[in-house]
Amino acid sequence: MRYYSTQKQSSTVSLKEAVVKGLAPDRGLYMPETIGQLPTSFYKEISGMNLTTIAQTVARKFFGEDIPQDELDTIVADTLSFAIPLRKVEENIWVLELFHGPTFAFKDVGARFMARMLSHFVKKEQEEVKVLVATSGDTGSAVANGFLGVEGIHVFVLYPSGKVSDIQEAQFTTLGKNITALEVDGTFDDCQALVKNAFMDEELNSQLRLTSANSINVARFLPQSFYYFHAWAQLIRHNPAAKAVISVPSGNLGNLTAGLFAKRMGLPVERFIAANNRNDVFREYLLTGNYSPRSSVQTIANAMDVGAPSNFDRILDLYGHDHRTITGDITAYRYSDEEICNTIRVTQQQTGYLLDPHGACGYLALKEGLQPGESGIFLATAHPAKFKETVEECTGKPVTIPEDLAAFMQNKKESIELPNDFSLFKKALLRLS
Ligand SMILES: *Cc1c(COP(=O)(O)O)cnc(C)c1O
Repeated sequence: MRYYSTQKQSSTVSLKEAVVKGLAPDRGLYMPETIGQLPTSFYKEISGMNLTTIAQTVARKFFGEDIPQDELDTIVADTLSFAIPLRKVEENIWVLELFHGPTFAFKDVGARFMARMLSHFVKKEQEEVKVLVATSGDTGSAVANGFLGVEGIHVFVLYPSGKVSDIQEAQFTTLGKNITALEVDGTFDDCQALVKNAFMDEELNSQLRLTSANSINVARFLPQSFYYFHAWAQLIRHNPAAKAVISVPSGNLGNLTAGLFAKRMGLPVERFIAANNRNDVFREYLLTGNYSPRSSVQTIANAMDVGAPSNFDRILDLYGHDHRTITGDITAYRYSDEEICNTIRVTQQQTGYLLDPHGACGYLALKEGLQPGESGIFLATAHPAKFKETVEECTGKPVTIPEDLAAFMQNKKESIELPNDFSLFKKALLRLS
């Protein structure tokens, strides 16, 4: 399979090149040239299939020409070593819990898959690959844990000192092995700028083999389509005639785009709902046809605080830039911190189900957008304990931290402190490599 750039200014590349490069040279995002259809027989049998089998079948459509089947099957099976259950919250409303992986957030799926795929491509090569990732919390933990111990790859996580939660920090500073945490005296934007400058620095790139692990990478975003099939399979076990509508808490739109790919492969989902917090440029685009990216504002669903969603161009490309067909498949809603907080409290009181702030947006949007005769699924993208302080403030009740999450806090923190200075960052990279 060849991959083309959404900017259409660079030539097509192989899967390996798309994964190792991340972004195309023209700054566009890579897209697969074809999106394969799964046969009708697959949809007839899917309700009897488990997550791994479903995911292996879908993965072969994308990556089957480029990776031997037994190796691809192993990559998929190793990625999905945890459950992704669909639970009923109330009449006609279901939640797909994506937070049972090692760092208790859905990014585990993409990060684990990408680590294994990148390793497949580079492990036999002499030179180690350095993955640089800037994080405001969640991405760093997923990437660090996803790549932990993976052959041929070293990960540098840059994070703003004092600006991530204790749990998040513990998830990428206590791992050791091939994970190095760089604690920057600055903001998340400073960390991101350091990483961007590193990719543009000729000397660094001539000496080190650098790549990034953010959600623009095809190996991180495509595997997220697997669980949409699994969600549908579980839903039709309960209601074979269900007209499914899926609500996705959205930031960079990688998760939603993966769902749209699943639909394009024939998954009979009626439509999608994008749930935004106050950072609602995507909702605004759906309503008006105008896209005006801007700086993000801070909210309690902070993993969705994105003002210029990086996967927006993929959605445009997938729909041939046709606003009308896009709005036929997706509607969006936005919520304030107050609405999110109230929903967490009231939903726990009324149903017993504890939402995290991101899942709460998805739930609210589903309640607002679901039409009579439809069955709704919202994605719970993080475990509520990952946002313990916020959730406790909303409910007024203590949140218990799962043992495996608390275990991160037991280990010794190790980080390298750095000022916000590119030349010192560069020196550190060269010294540590
Ligand atoms: C990253 C993240 C999101 C947003 O996902 P996108 O793919 O960027 O739209 C939502 N919720 C949580 C908990 C996240 O970590």
